[in-house]
Amino acid sequence: MKFELPRLPYAKDALEPYMCKETLEYHYEKHHRGYLTKLQGLIEAKPEAAKSLEDIIGSADGAVFNNAAQVWNHTFFWNCMEPTGGGDPSGDLASRLRDTFGSLQRFRETFIATGMGRFGSGYAWLVLDGGVLRCVDTSNADTPLVRKQTPLLTCDVWEHAYYLDHRNDRGKYLEAFLQHLVSWDFVAEQLKRAG
Ligand code: FE
Repeated sequence: MKFELPRLPYAKDALEPYMCKETLEYHYEKHHRGYLTKLQGLIEAKPEAAKSLEDIIGSADGAVFNNAAQVWNHTFFWNCMEPTGGGDPSGDLASRLRDTFGSLQRFRETFIATGMGRFGSGYAWLVLDGGVLRCVDTSNADTPLVRKQTPLLTCDVWEHAYYLDHRNDRGKYLEAFLQHLVSWDFVAEQLKRAG
């Protein structure tokens, strides 16, 4: 399968002032595209070249897994944001979050603590795990896809995601992500699809 870099769902300056154009230029054009280019080189003329990205992630290890998972994780991450995002979710998603975490504020605190608790590079996620909403973190390229968990929301907490906007302050980045950037419509859609 010939993989293409999916288009960003918004312009590179559309998330300003919370995520600047330069962050998107590097993160999307250099990091995300870099993982895709490396993956293409690694699987060229190999059996993996005929598989879907998800199938490669489910069966590969080492560099092929790392680059394939990073391609998938970043595409999902871009979709988790929108220019007029943030605030409170609504509907079934909001009810489920309140039921699970006690309140939307408690959910936010848990999600931020999850991202802060990830030592080094990785991601904070909201996943559906056996029908239960959970906040989990993953290391480096690791992804809940290989743990039979359904990703609903992610925030990339590699330093390349926030250093230009927030320097070393990951907590401020996670707060800005939830307050101003998260696309609750996208998260609700993932939850609905998961049933
Ligand atoms: Fe990243």
